[in-house]
Amino acid sequence: MVNLVLFGPPGAGKGTQSEKLIRKYSFVHISTGDLFRWHTKNDTALGKRVKEIMNSGALVPDEITIAMLKEELDKNPQAKGFLFDGFPRTVAQAEALDQFMKNNGSAIHHVIALDVTEEELRARIAKRRTVENRPDDQEEKLNKRITEYFSKTIHVLPYYKKQGRLHTIHGIGAIDEIFDAICAHLDKKQKV
Ligand code: AMP
Repeated sequence: MVNLVLFGPPGAGKGTQSEKLIRKYSFVHISTGDLFRWHTKNDTALGKRVKEIMNSGALVPDEITIAMLKEELDKNPQAKGFLFDGFPRTVAQAEALDQFMKNNGSAIHHVIALDVTEEELRARIAKRRTVENRPDDQEEKLNKRITEYFSKTIHVLPYYKKQGRLHTIHGIGAIDEIFDAICAHLDKKQKV
């Protein structure tokens, strides 16, 4: 079992690369952003709690996010491996994830960070806004999301770096080239 965290700021290409990775390696894909969007769309109790927070571009509190993640892990006991996309976004989430993995006799084997400049991110999200119409891609929400990334989420990187699990990949260029760089790293490190 190989578990991967795909890390990067909003607009770094995590969703696009995740789709390609799950096709190639049959990971169970866990995107906390997609899960929250499912809950808000279906107006569940959780959806009602997080809707305003998400629309503001802020992070959902750890307690709610970690509980939802745990539930998702428990639903997939037969998974060959997990790909975490958009989680962890705080050090507390990273610690909780390590603990869950450890409890299941497993671990996070790879953390791949997509490195993209802030300027490129803003340009990409402006483009995505016209295609997907996500309310949290509007300008002031976008500013908040980028601020949340650089004030909270970025601290997750040294957490993994210290443990020698972090691998950074240049996230600007052709989608397939970035994908090949990720696969080369995964294939070199360990058979998936
Ligand atoms: P994403 O699609 O991953 O950019 O997530 C969309 C929104 O969902 C974020 O702006 C947050 O409001 C919320 N969210 C997703 N994942 C997390 C997380 N790991 N921790 C806190 N909030 C999250």
